[in-house]
Amino acid sequence: MNISPYIYIGYQCNNNCIFCSEADEYLEHLKVKDFEEIKKEILQIRKKYDFVSFMGREPTLRNDLFDILRFTVNLNFKQVGITTNGRVLSYPGFVKELLKTGTNQIGISLNGATAEVHDKLTQVPGSFKQTVKGISNISRLKKPEVSLLVNLPLNRLNYFELKKMIDLLLSLKIQEINILFVAPLSKRSRTKKIVMKTSELGKYVFDTIKPYLNNLDLKILLVEFLPCSLPKEARNYFFPCLEKNPNKVRIPICQQCSYQDKCDGVLQDYINLYGIDEFRL
Ligand code: SF4
Repeated sequence: MNISPYIYIGYQCNNNCIFCSEADEYLEHLKVKDFEEIKKEILQIRKKYDFVSFMGREPTLRNDLFDILRFTVNLNFKQVGITTNGRVLSYPGFVKELLKTGTNQIGISLNGATAEVHDKLTQVPGSFKQTVKGISNISRLKKPEVSLLVNLPLNRLNYFELKKMIDLLLSLKIQEINILFVAPLSKRSRTKKIVMKTSELGKYVFDTIKPYLNNLDLKILLVEFLPCSLPKEARNYFFPCLEKNPNKVRIPICQQCSYQDKCDGVLQDYINLYGIDEFRL
């Protein structure tokens, strides 16, 4: 059995992000897993990994979330993480309970630097305000050893706010930022209209983050921007998506590429959109 350290535990979501691949029918029609089923999965994962992350669609909407987290933390994983849109974290009482479980990595997605852009992507008015409050609450209440990672999924509708997003996050004392390439993952093709050409976006991103790279208190990673799509000096910031995607294929230059061990290739749906001419060793 192919075990991944990522567990989907939340099938509902209080956002409706335009680019969400998890909103696809295959997830919506899955039966909600109960605690017992999740326990079994966690125990399987523990045999192979020392970290685990709970995600998709929105785990904070589960009533038994804290029980799941406490059960997991007691298994002595090195890292127990949760990925959320952060809206529920706007309630300080919830944040305190969450941190009390011993969860030591919290990933929150931010889609813009302004309500206008963020809420357009989530399709929920007021979501920007809650997410920013959630980020601020965790940043304020967490212990230093708890990692707070803010994910910035970039696409045609928000990439131009990248600098403002980074400045906003620095004002909230954020030290870890993952800049994500929004790939055409959605089977409903909701993403395809907003997916950018990865090499063009990669260059824009690297030009934008350059002035921040000397800040030793800030760690920036480029997730799902393939090295062969990035300027050479940007490739040190490449971070592979650890979740396996069967839709990725090798392209001819992969054979000579030094990143073969870390990179699984290009999404076939991306190739269908833009071809492979932009990729370079
Ligand atoms: S392994 Fe292939 S897809 Fe990945 S960076 Fe290298 S050339 Fe690009």
